[in-house]
Amino acid sequence: MNLGRDNHPDLRDAVKALCAQFDSPYWQGIDEKRAYPEKFVDALTKAGWMSALIPEEYGGSGLSLTEATVIMEEITRSGGNAGCCHGQMYNMNTLLRHGSSSQKKHYLPKIASGELRLQSMAVTEPTAGTDTTKIKTVAVKKGDRYVVNGQKVWTSRLQHSELMILLARTTPLNEVAKKSDGMSVFLVDTKSKGIDVKPIRNMVNHETNQVFMDNLEIPAENLIGEEGKGFRYILDGLNAERILIAAECVGDGYWFVDKSTNYAKERVVFDRPIGQNQGIQFPIAEAYMEIEAANLMRYKASALFDKKSPCGAEANMAKHLCATASWEAANVCIQTYGGFGFAAEYDVERKFRETRLYLVAPISTNLILSYLAEHVLGLPRSF
Ligand SMILES: Cc1cc2nc3c(=O)[nH]c(=O)nc-3n(C[C@H](O)[C@H](O)[C@H](O)COP(=O)(O)OP(=O)(O)OC[C@H]3O[C@@H](n4cnc5c(N)ncnc54)[C@H](O)[C@@H]3O)c2cc1C
Repeated sequence: MNLGRDNHPDLRDAVKALCAQFDSPYWQGIDEKRAYPEKFVDALTKAGWMSALIPEEYGGSGLSLTEATVIMEEITRSGGNAGCCHGQMYNMNTLLRHGSSSQKKHYLPKIASGELRLQSMAVTEPTAGTDTTKIKTVAVKKGDRYVVNGQKVWTSRLQHSELMILLARTTPLNEVAKKSDGMSVFLVDTKSKGIDVKPIRNMVNHETNQVFMDNLEIPAENLIGEEGKGFRYILDGLNAERILIAAECVGDGYWFVDKSTNYAKERVVFDRPIGQNQGIQFPIAEAYMEIEAANLMRYKASALFDKKSPCGAEANMAKHLCATASWEAANVCIQTYGGFGFAAEYDVERKFRETRLYLVAPISTNLILSYLAEHVLGLPRSF
């Protein structure tokens, strides 16, 4: 496979052409108003990119995860923010890989047409943090329904999604042999009675919320896969999430490098372009090199995922390497711009904030390092 910046040329050209309709003033305006880029997401949906991973038999585009990552990369590389739409891609995976055939027949065509959005996933809780097995949200089966009580935090895009993937405990922690057992995944109608949503204002323009569930009733047929095995399904989906976000970081990284390079050529100080100084050139060259290297791990991880091979280590490494490379490129870019890097009209400060998120979410750096130390290198578990 061509691992350069120019693979999948037709796909890239089509996504680029769509993104070109949403220029810098569009994203600046959305950021300033803390608004959701509804027009952009609608255009993506109509063009079929939001249903990239849905098989053609259900009305989707039937693309691979690798191709889906190209879509995400082109969005961030065009100057946009893919945080508004990546959720549907990885949430889809939970339904596709673990949903029943009747769930797929019922939901996938509606998601593919844009009638329903599956943009939201509620896993993180305020008290459990990254220690997901300690979640306190419980789902108790009562006849043909589950009754859910609990609280989630950082549930993104919920206000722009009809459906949400929810992880809840169905067997108490002290009754399971393995602490990762006894959790289940549900497909939830976000407009159901018993859900209260409180938005969290945050550093980026990212629609994210606290969610309170008080006797929320979910029909039993909305359980995805087997009861008690939900944690495994979520982990599988998280690999897709990490790989898609790695690609977004690659797009951001190239955007920062292009922006830095162009500015360094044009900005004249002391009677010469600042890019003539090696003190400006070298950090840009280094940032470019780091992105190119990280990008290889992104393709390795997505190829493994597409083959349905184990890819936990590669997905984590891809997310970490690409997020680190993109963050380094962001710092280089703001330094290259000097004071103008802080002015909203150049987009640098916005993209700087946007790309910073990915060293923390969907999984923070330390947790990736401890995963590799323990599961790949065989070092003793530290917690
Ligand atoms: C904008 C945004 C959007 C998000 N969207 C979603 C979403 O849609 N759905 C969802 O479920 N979640 C979402 N999240 C949550 C996100 O996945 C978590 O914030 C992230 O995984 C980190 O978890 P935490 O915030 O609970 O940190 P904590 O678990 O409280 O950890 C805090 C810090 O301590 C470190 N740490 C913890 N334990 C250890 C240890 N044993 N060793 C070393 N270091 C440790 C962590 O690495 C981290 O740096 C979102 C978060 C943000 C900020």
